[in-house]
Amino acid sequence: MSQSDFQPDSQLYSQLHSQPDKEQPARIGPNAIIRVGEALLALENAEVAERIFAVAGLSRYRQTPPSEMVPEAEVIALQQALRAELPVDAAAAVSRDAGLRTGDYLLAHRIPKPAQRVLKLLPPGPACRMLLKAVAKNAWTFVGSGHYGFEMGRPVRVSIAQCPICRDATASFPVCDFYAGAFERLCQSLVSPRAQVRETQCQALGAAACQFEIDWRR
Ligand SMILES: [Zn+2]
Repeated sequence: MSQSDFQPDSQLYSQLHSQPDKEQPARIGPNAIIRVGEALLALENAEVAERIFAVAGLSRYRQTPPSEMVPEAEVIALQQALRAELPVDAAAAVSRDAGLRTGDYLLAHRIPKPAQRVLKLLPPGPACRMLLKAVAKNAWTFVGSGHYGFEMGRPVRVSIAQCPICRDATASFPVCDFYAGAFERLCQSLVSPRAQVRETQCQALGAAACQFEIDWRR
């Protein structure tokens, strides 16, 4: 594929899943389960991973990780179990690490290499816009019943309303580290190595939508 053939909207992600059925409960890609399991083994241990998956009612995934999209209720339950069972800092670290791992997975398997080369050649602003537009096309695979949006500017802002990661949570700080980690890994690889992503507003604090700032100019 030459650079001029590159159509970011249609080609930046290879289509993995069929489009959602409006009648069915919302579903989310299996990375939100599998990478949390990996992060628990890396940062905690197998016993803690067993316990947290059991609390979430997902023990079956310890033996056989999901290979297809899962009901979003399972992702919500796993995040709730993380926060219930681990100290605040440890839960945040696991969630963020799972997000970074999800970014790695997308870079290795879902975002075609020619598209990645094009993004890396562009200045950070246009690369970020193209990336976030392509992500929008696939947002339903990771926000479930939530709503994704973004706004270019300084900094760039991504919003997720009806966010599943913090669904039903009440906290005194933002808790959607999974998304922050995933966006940070993608942006550091494809937009600028200096890119940092942090969640500045979270529904767990009563905000109308979770909001993430992407900044590579700090
Ligand atoms: Zn949030």
